[in-house]
Amino acid sequence: MVQVNGIQYRWPQYPVVVVCIDGGDPAYIQQGLQEGFIPNIARFMKQGFSVVADGTVPSFTCPNNMSIITGTPASKHGISGNFYLDTRTGEAVVMTGPELLRGDTILARFAEGGARVVAITAKDKLRRQLGKNLDVSKGNINFSSEKADQCTLAENGIEDVLEFVGSPLPHMYSADLSLFVLDAGIKILERNRPDLMYLSLTDYIQHKHAPAEDEAKRFYMDLDERFGKLAALGAVVALTADHGMNDKADAEGKPNVIWLQDILDREFGKGDTRVICPITDAFVAHHGALGGFVRVWCRGKATPKKIIDAIRGTDGLESVLDKETACKVHDLPPDREGDVVVISTADACIGASAADHDLSGLEGHRLRTHGGVSEAKVPFILSAPLNDEYRLKAGAATLKSYRIFDFAINGAMPL
Ligand SMILES: [Zn+2]
Repeated sequence: MVQVNGIQYRWPQYPVVVVCIDGGDPAYIQQGLQEGFIPNIARFMKQGFSVVADGTVPSFTCPNNMSIITGTPASKHGISGNFYLDTRTGEAVVMTGPELLRGDTILARFAEGGARVVAITAKDKLRRQLGKNLDVSKGNINFSSEKADQCTLAENGIEDVLEFVGSPLPHMYSADLSLFVLDAGIKILERNRPDLMYLSLTDYIQHKHAPAEDEAKRFYMDLDERFGKLAALGAVVALTADHGMNDKADAEGKPNVIWLQDILDREFGKGDTRVICPITDAFVAHHGALGGFVRVWCRGKATPKKIIDAIRGTDGLESVLDKETACKVHDLPPDREGDVVVISTADACIGASAADHDLSGLEGHRLRTHGGVSEAKVPFILSAPLNDEYRLKAGAATLKSYRIFDFAINGAMPL
């Protein structure tokens, strides 16, 4: 038994592989099922377990990856975005540091208990949080495909990864960055047969391509083939996503953006409010740092109430909440929350100032992005059926995606 953040986990009798399909909106799986190009996922859904679950809001990468590996909501683990504003310094702080992650990860606790644990991510920005307290000197592995060429035994628990996987270093903006994660996972499963493996992909394809486009279909075929290999090697494979993805362009193909900082500056004057887009990171070419969830901090005479009165009802905004309500409704940590939370509808997104967002990276593609409640529905698929206890748990309420390790370890009955 291993206890993590209030949940008891039994010792896995089989390798458990949890895959986070970054940006893996349920619509992509729907498309694949309709056209029959994801036979392994289809088999998991038929023979195992499948539901559309609720992810963490804001529906961004870091909060959801942390929810999944801790088994807790953002109010507990503290990572409620990719950025937050440090009100003492007025600086936007990137939330990828392991020191900002509260509580233990399921991965580290199992490793402490003697399990062999592997955490691989596509983007290096997630690596250190996934590897928080994971001792790689004891046979555990933690690396990113982005920096697979720089792995050392001391830092990552593995070296010569490119030779081992048999692929060149994938490009930062490519489907291969994700496929490399899975190929490495398959090789490690063959060689080391670890107890727990967490494989986190990148949403490059989903940001660029809708489910019916050939590039997206190709990507899902490639994913499906690899999921089949993981299952064939005897693992229970659990598939979820950090968030979905919606098209946010208008009829002419132009991004449907609410430039919130510009609106607030007109209303209250420059410097009185500060809009932070928590999607922002160094990896923005394909979404221009535009998402469906932003935070506003009051810096002068503007108050939460005045801000809410000024923007509530704006076309494209689904909800405008004060801090207390936002934390209650979306289970968020108050000390990292803005004074006002603004969430867009499915077909719109929110930016700060038009002048600060570079949309040239879209290269003529329609804007597809995420962050709001409308992108928080994610797949929750297990390759093996559930035992009676977990079938009951699954039926009792809407399932949270951060229960995926719990379900895969405690609930799955390998065929
Ligand atoms: Zn993501």
